[in-house]
Amino acid sequence: MAYDTKNVFAKILRGEIPCQRVYEDEHVLAFKDINPKAPVHILVIPKGEYASFMEFSTHASQDEVANFFAAIAKIVKALKLPESGFRLVVNNGPDSGEEVPHFHMHILGGKRLGGMA
Ligand code: 5GP
Repeated sequence: MAYDTKNVFAKILRGEIPCQRVYEDEHVLAFKDINPKAPVHILVIPKGEYASFMEFSTHASQDEVANFFAAIAKIVKALKLPESGFRLVVNNGPDSGEEVPHFHMHILGGKRLGGMA
């Protein structure tokens, strides 16, 4: 799948539209979801141009993949989520309802999340 450089997360990465940043390193940016589904709703994205989870898992370097998951762990610890619990969600492709074609992982927490819909 060709990467669409006009997608909203590409614009956030280029600084063309603002975000509420919660974490950043060489490979990763994390920011608050604009339409939160829980008291904590963070989006974590790689800085590389990967349109989906499948693109990221197939084409990202081992460093990028390891760094991505390490960043998730740092963020949930910084937000003190491990004790109360949290959910990680990735949508991939049409059946999932994925809206933005830049790989992202949702971190949800801060309340009882209920069952998976
Ligand atoms: P998806 O359904 O693709 O897994 O999730 C995309 C998420 O991006 C949605 O939860 C949506 O609220 C969020 N989102 C869409 N546009 C923006 C934006 O401009 N800024 C931020 N912070 N989040 C956005």
